Parts: sequence; structure tokens; C-alpha cells
Amino acid sequence: MILDLWLLVLPVAAFSGWYLGKNRNDLNDSSTVWPQDYLTGLNYLLNEQPDKAVDIFIKMLEVDSETVETHLALGNLFRRRGEVDRAIRIHQNLIARPNLEKSQRVQAMLALGRDYMLAGVLDRAERLFLEVIDAGIYAADSLKYLLDIYEQEKDWEKCISIAQKIEVTLGDSMRSVIAHYYCELALEDYSVVNDEQRFRYLKRALNVDKKCVRAVLIAGSWEAEEGNYKAAIRSYKKVKEQDPDYLSEAIPPLITCYQKIGQEAQLIQYLRSCLDEHPRISIVLVLSERLKHWQSEAVAADFVAEQLRVRPSIRGLKQLIELQISLSEGSAKEKLSLLKQLTEQLIKEKPVYRCGNCGFSGKVLHWQCPGCKLWNVVKPIHGLEGD
Ligand SMILES: [Zn+2]
Repeated sequence: MILDLWLLVLPVAAFSGWYLGKNRNDLNDSSTVWPQDYLTGLNYLLNEQPDKAVDIFIKMLEVDSETVETHLALGNLFRRRGEVDRAIRIHQNLIARPNLEKSQRVQAMLALGRDYMLAGVLDRAERLFLEVIDAGIYAADSLKYLLDIYEQEKDWEKCISIAQKIEVTLGDSMRSVIAHYYCELALEDYSVVNDEQRFRYLKRALNVDKKCVRAVLIAGSWEAEEGNYKAAIRSYKKVKEQDPDYLSEAIPPLITCYQKIGQEAQLIQYLRSCLDEHPRISIVLVLSERLKHWQSEAVAADFVAEQLRVRPSIRGLKQLIELQISLSEGSAKEKLSLLKQLTEQLIKEKPVYRCGNCGFSGKVLHWQCPGCKLWNVVKPIHGLEGD
């Protein structure tokens, strides 16, 4: 049996704590009689009953200025192992000591707050972090944990307030994150916000961060729902200037809006200008569909082939195969159909979005990455396998 590190550390820490305490209490007694509790604990450990052993060793660890760090380290070790009940007991035990220095008490409160967060007892964690902030030390850490709690609770007003405090305390720009909080408020249930408030929140999002793609996409969708297609088009077109990485999000609704007002020629003109500046396969696919509709499948196929030579893409290849199928006959058509099935399978298995921070990938655009919880890091995948 390979003993975990903590199973080795704990008996040593417990013995050191006991030995130091013993020598302080009885300076003249140099004999080393091992305490019964320690031997019992070791016995449990050797008999593969680590839970009982751990409880005994923790009880032996006397809290004083020299062992506070050991308690904190042990508590954090248990939390990392997911043994949150033990971590809570250790940190509660520390805080209960009246002779603790202020910085040590605050450190223990911060640690206990993290334990409660992990245990899902968010109200207790919140109270502890607020107390730590009031104490004036470890405030930056507490603010970040509080922000995490309010995000989990979807209390966006409080998120905005804490994010603003983080900007002041740490000097980190939180503008793009605050803009997302305003977007979240704009999208709240109708029982919570009315239409007027919704637009106001969206405006605030863009005031805080004029590059907030999400706000522009939401505004575009609302205008389109109301039948204000020209206003929707103006909104969607902003994405190219804000962050062209998200162009593929704006193009499908743009096509619908242009079609609704019967201005397809302007759509093609706009897409061609986008393609010149930001080559994306989603634009090539739309343009090839239009060429097929207005001219012929052969012209569309030539256009896609020309684009693929410069920018290889699986989705582009699928489009080219589809166009070639309609231009072929007999066994060539059969083989192309097989090739089409293979590329379809390949596309089906590929993610569409990826987080630039942690690598999380999927087929849904998350404005807050489900993996690393950062905002604005998940983007459409570009290149051979993406857009
Ligand atoms: Zn991530």
C-alpha cells in the first residue's frame, strides 16, 4: 500500500506539536514517553483505518503561534482532497482560539470561507469573505471568491459592485466582464425586468465595453424580432469592427434580415468586403449558395475551389463535394456521395467553439467558459477544422 503524502505528514506534525507543547510545559523533563493517543493513531494507520487515525492526530495538534501554519496547511490539504468536513473542523478550531494574531485569524477565516464554498454553503462563505474584506487584509482574494459566489447565485447587481471594487483594489480591468453582467441583467426573466430596463442594461453594457459582441448580437436579435430589420443589420454589422473572430455569429442573422427587406445584392457586397478583410469559411459558404442561386452550380463550385486553394477547410470541402455531386453522373456521383458522408461525419464530431484559456471545447457558444469560468475566452474555432 502506498501511503498518501498527508498520511505521512500528519503523524509527524502531530508528534512535533505534542513534543513542543510538552517541552514548553515541562522544561526539566527530557524523557520522551510517547503519548498513548499517538500510538493509537499509528495503530489505526497501520491497520488501514486512516479516518480514525486522522481524527486522533488532529486532536493532538495543539494550536499555538508555532503550529498555526501547520493547521492551515493541513486544512487546505484536506480541502484539496475533497475532505471538506475535516478542513472545516480544522479551520473552525483555529478561529475559536482567542490568542490568535489578527493576520492568522483572517487567514483562517479566508480558508474556512473556501471550505464552505466547496461544501456549497454559500451564505456562510459570503459572510466570512465580507468579514475578511472589513478586516483590511487578504481583501483581494476575498473579493475574487465573493465574485465567484455571486456568479453562482446569478446575483448580477452584486457581481457588478464587486467587479468594480476589484478594479479599484487590484487595478485589473473588469470592463468586459461587467459588460457581460449587464447582458445577463438584460436577459433576465420578464417577471424581473421590463422592456425599458432591458434596453437600458444593454446600453450600459456597451457604455462599459464598446467591444461587447454579445450586447450587439442581443440588440440585433431584439430589433429583428420587432421587425426593425435595418436597425438589426446596423447592430450585427458592428461585430466586424468589435471582434471579427465572432463574425460567424453575426452572418446567419444578417442573411435573414437582408432577405426580409429584399436587399440581397447589398448582403453580397457586404460579405465580399468581409471576406477580403477576414477570410472565413462561413462567408465563403454563404457566397457560394448565392452564386449557385443566381448563376450556376459550376460557377459556385469554381468559387469554392478557388477559396479552398488559399484557405483549406473541411466545411468548404463538403460544400465543394455537394456542388460537384449535382454536376456529376453515374459512378462518379456515387463516389462523391460516399465522400460527402465521410466529411459530414468528420464535421459532426468536431467542436465548433474552443476556450483560448483552458481548451474547453463544444458545439455551444458559452460567454463564460464552463471549464475555467473566465468570460470572453470561448470563441469560434478557425482554420482547417473550423470557420
Ligand atoms: Zn476555459
